[in-house]
Amino acid sequence: MGGLPSFAPMRGGPVLEIVMAVPKKKVSKSRRNMRRAHHALPSMAYVECKNCGELKRPHSVCSHCGYYREDMPVLADSASAEK
Ligand SMILES: [Zn+2]
Repeated sequence: MGGLPSFAPMRGGPVLEIVMAVPKKKVSKSRRNMRRAHHALPSMAYVECKNCGELKRPHSVCSHCGYYREDMPVLADSASAEK
């Protein structure tokens, strides 16, 4: 429970009570929806793999062929064969 403790004038002297932050006005549907207009997730970035042409996330190893670049097999079967 947050809020600053405040003294409320009551019969029998001041009594310490905790007052929480309370919105002053109801937020209308329009205002609420306008606030949430920026909440949409951005679309995921995809690039074409230069080795196999499959779509993959940029700066990552291709899940289809296992190549990072055309000349850099990371998870591919040929990685062990080339060495
Ligand atoms: Zn690939």
